[in-house]
Amino acid sequence: MNLEALSKIQNSIPDSVKLVAVSKTKPIEDIHEAYHLGIRDFGENRVQELVEKASVLPSDINWHAIGHIQRNKVKLVTPISHLIHSVDSTRLYDSIVKCADKRVDVLLQIHIAEEETKHGFTAKEVHEAINIGLLINPQVRIKGLMGMATFTDDKKRVASEFRGLGRLFDELQPFFGESFDVLSMGMSGDWRIAVDEGSTLIRVGSSIFGSR
Ligand SMILES: *Cc1c(COP(=O)(O)O)cnc(C)c1O
Repeated sequence: MNLEALSKIQNSIPDSVKLVAVSKTKPIEDIHEAYHLGIRDFGENRVQELVEKASVLPSDINWHAIGHIQRNKVKLVTPISHLIHSVDSTRLYDSIVKCADKRVDVLLQIHIAEEETKHGFTAKEVHEAINIGLLINPQVRIKGLMGMATFTDDKKRVASEFRGLGRLFDELQPFFGESFDVLSMGMSGDWRIAVDEGSTLIRVGSSIFGSR
């Protein structure tokens, strides 16, 4: 673990920004080490790995599901997730509604990058879904938005993608109300830009745990 990088991040983000340590592919011992330093929010992108880690690690960890979720795996994810960041279709949202026997908190993943490989709604798709009455089940509460910028050194481009996500967040906020307060953007390579553009939650893996 890179303690120096970790404390640098912790010291440079404002109190209003939460750090989620992305522990995907990393062993249990790494998570224990971070846990003993006081970190309680961890992100995983594979369902099986999330389930296995959650079953052996302390129960006061807040698990963040950040990867694409197949609909047949939803029932494994909802009981253990503090927040699901990666609701990328109305079909997935509806599957979560069907499985939810208590309130589930989720973010809508928005496609802001150039790459087609990244999942998510377009801004237009979210507006259309809302207009026809989707995405409003009280059991599955939409807490905000998540997005991943294009993987590039072009800082202006990254900033403009995050700014666009921030604008969509502001447009949707009056619709979803006060509990809509999470803007999940920023990773190892771009969290500073994301924080400047209004991120409230950064998801950082390789800077803290080393490259994968
Ligand atoms: C892997 C991953 C991260 C962390 O990426 P790093 O570049 O290692 O910080 C953040 N968000 C998502 C959705 C990821 O899949």
